[in-house]
Amino acid sequence: MIERQGEAIVLRVWPFQEADLLVSLFTREQGRVKGVARHAMRSRRRFGGALEPMTYVRATYAERPKQELMRLDAFEILSSPLSRPIDYARTAALQFVAEVVEEALPEQAPEDAVFRLVLAVLDQIQVGKVWLPVTYFSLWMSRLMGWMPELGHCVVCGLDLRGGTVWYSATSDGVTCADDRRGGSVALSAASAGEAVRIFRGTVGELAKEDWPKDRVADLRRFAVETLERHLERRLVSARALGRA
Ligand SMILES: [Zn+2]
Repeated sequence: MIERQGEAIVLRVWPFQEADLLVSLFTREQGRVKGVARHAMRSRRRFGGALEPMTYVRATYAERPKQELMRLDAFEILSSPLSRPIDYARTAALQFVAEVVEEALPEQAPEDAVFRLVLAVLDQIQVGKVWLPVTYFSLWMSRLMGWMPELGHCVVCGLDLRGGTVWYSATSDGVTCADDRRGGSVALSAASAGEAVRIFRGTVGELAKEDWPKDRVADLRRFAVETLERHLERRLVSARALGRA
């Protein structure tokens, strides 16, 4: 048995046997792991409110020989999403981050850059201010996974697309100029492509000082979410929920 303690983010929780809970946890040191919180539905002492998805915790857990599931011993809350006001859009945005991390990361592969990205956006996902952190997270997550196409040039003819409209398709890699656009392509406006450049250069905290209503860079957010979905090879349930917010 290897005892461990470290920072982690709760992604998902399922009822397990009897009063146990199965927890998907994104740990800083080991990446995504799954573990069992024994008697967690009865014992509030060891886990308290720490099993709410997207709670940032210090987790004490143990790896058991020849067993895939960790034994979760205790969580200490470092930051809870419930400590600030909550509404439908904020809940959907938090679920979106959890779902993408859950789907994108393999188990037991440390991803410190993703961990830092999640902590940074979590802090910014607040009531009335979800759209920038969701867009920032989607673009950066795609980039960190190696899925973000280069937006500056047409993948077919090499034309410099900076300052102009960019076309992308849900079925093929890269972006194109208008002449080379493939069937079913969608346009990403020049303004939004420019905002993508700013997002890749700035911090979410700095950018959040500006106003980002839902319709600002809506096409860029759609592009980023569709890039994630294309590589995950599935639709993100939480992205649909977020769209209804
Ligand atoms: Zn072209």
